[in-house]
Amino acid sequence: MTDATVAGGPGLLERLAAGPVICAEGYLFEIERRGYLSAGAYVPEAVLEHPDTVARLHRDFLHAGSDVMLAFTYYAHREKLRLIGKEDALEEINRTALRLAREAALEGDALVAGNVCNSNVFIDGDPESARMVRAMFDEQVGWAVDEGVDFIVAETISFVSEALLALEAIKAAGMPAVINLAVHREPITRDGLSMAEAAKRLEDGGADVVGLNCTRGPATMLPLLGPMRDAVSCHVAALPVAYRTTEEQPSFQSLEDPGCACLPDGRPFPVALDPFTVNRYEIEEFARAAHALGVNYLGVCCGAGPHHIRAVAEALGRRPPASRYSPDMSTHAFYGTSDKVPSAYKDFSKNL
Ligand SMILES: [Zn+2]
Repeated sequence: MTDATVAGGPGLLERLAAGPVICAEGYLFEIERRGYLSAGAYVPEAVLEHPDTVARLHRDFLHAGSDVMLAFTYYAHREKLRLIGKEDALEEINRTALRLAREAALEGDALVAGNVCNSNVFIDGDPESARMVRAMFDEQVGWAVDEGVDFIVAETISFVSEALLALEAIKAAGMPAVINLAVHREPITRDGLSMAEAAKRLEDGGADVVGLNCTRGPATMLPLLGPMRDAVSCHVAALPVAYRTTEEQPSFQSLEDPGCACLPDGRPFPVALDPFTVNRYEIEEFARAAHALGVNYLGVCCGAGPHHIRAVAEALGRRPPASRYSPDMSTHAFYGTSDKVPSAYKDFSKNL
């Protein structure tokens, strides 16, 4: 297995052995918010239609401290492209996304990761669906290897049996594998396994990193991490969505917003989650707590902005380039502590 970057620097496993690795995610949500991609099918056509926007977001995440440029190939798989009638564009989207990630990574000594995800056509126990899904993983992994990635992430998968298909495809290509599961309202996989059992099976299958991404916010993902960490000796990953999920509403799809009567579908997911967004301090707290548990592949998924990624980096004691602009309230017009702030204004702060 290869574990050096194309440029000859330390690869994923070497970096993880030395300390935590940060991976910014959430490209779909952020590019949708910026107005270059439509919510719904969520196919990353922006890769072809607005490559500069995708490249910009890679660079913003790099600036904020991400160690990994994850190719924006989430949902760029055969089933999704078939669904929107654009199968012809499948390979071009994948290769372009991989090149955009690679170009950005080279600007900042970051790793480049290929990305495969939930197929949405996997049926547990159906060999025909397994064969089809494996073929989908194989073709995406093939393009990723071709375009020179350092490792491959399989993510947002709810069945361990489907995740194992992705893992086999990645291992067959000789690449380090990060396998992240998405856990819904019940804290089990869709094939009924506990988090500990799921992690163990993935480690036994050869995964280098096992963990969770998407679906759950920091508050409801954190309690699931300890049992996974205890069950395996490989590295563990955690990339929550940037939303305030709760015990009663543990996934971002299950969040309800009774304070708003204007939601067209009656629920905030996916494009009206703004009032639930976690702030940078909450992400910082999560990153610190997860790292203390022994989780060393850290990031943020849907809803993430660069400020969240900087918070992860700072929680780990780093100062990425964006930290130059971290808050400094000392000279704020009202709340500032500097002698230069007039006391009449400081006194007025309680009236603001
Ligand atoms: Zn997500």
